[in-house]
Amino acid sequence: MSLAKTAGACPFCKEPIHPQAVKCKHCQSDLNAATKSKSSRFTQYLTFRNGFLTGVIFSIVMAILLYVQFSGSK
Ligand SMILES: [Zn+2]
Repeated sequence: MSLAKTAGACPFCKEPIHPQAVKCKHCQSDLNAATKSKSSRFTQYLTFRNGFLTGVIFSIVMAILLYVQFSGSK
């Protein structure tokens, strides 16, 4: 049950802090720098995946639209 609580705890001193705090009020550690490097790689992956998925879905939708247009115009 301790893992769920780590989101609101300082990674340096393990004291409970505000989830959106940029600086730990207990040990003065810069929390923004610690979380930014970790989340930026994840965000990069999500952006890449979303772009890839959007391209695939867009191609499929276009193919379906073209197919419907051609088969229904008779
Ligand atoms: Zn701290």
